[in-house]
Amino acid sequence: MTQTATTIAQVRVDSLPALYTSLTAALSEAGFSSRQLEEIFSNYVSAECVLCSTRITGEEMGRINLAEERTLAPDSKFDRLKRGSCAKKGCISLRYRVHLREYPDLDWLKIREKASEDEAAKKANAARKRLLIRLGMGIGVILTLLFCRYLMYYGHAPILQKPHKYTIDPASVAPEAPR
Ligand SMILES: [Zn+2]
Repeated sequence: MTQTATTIAQVRVDSLPALYTSLTAALSEAGFSSRQLEEIFSNYVSAECVLCSTRITGEEMGRINLAEERTLAPDSKFDRLKRGSCAKKGCISLRYRVHLREYPDLDWLKIREKASEDEAAKKANAARKRLLIRLGMGIGVILTLLFCRYLMYYGHAPILQKPHKYTIDPASVAPEAPR
């Protein structure tokens, strides 16, 4: 049986969990069942260290994220992967080569395109969020400056004092009450 493997260009170890997530999303969207996904990630997806050739399965790529919730023995396989290092103790490589093997009815090229589109969309969203936060901070600074100017000019705060007068002034409500 010959299996042609498509190799994704080298990726950083710390981006393996994100790659797993985006591939999972693209595959589910393409109609693969969760049982098929399990099979694909266990036997058809793998990542290999570019220096020492240590291999991890696609399924293990997905477990790097889950490993964060457990206490890991220092320098153990998943502890190292979680920190973005090669799984093998002593290896200084930070990069793995990802292999995608042929699977019935699976067009890896399409899946990878979809996955990278999702990644790009996520990045764009994050950039938009950062822009909004910066904009919000800018407005905050302007309001603070205006507030300070008002305070210096009039000697009291614009909002804190005036409404105070209205809220405790019973005279404006009193004539209506007896009716
Ligand atoms: Zn290695």
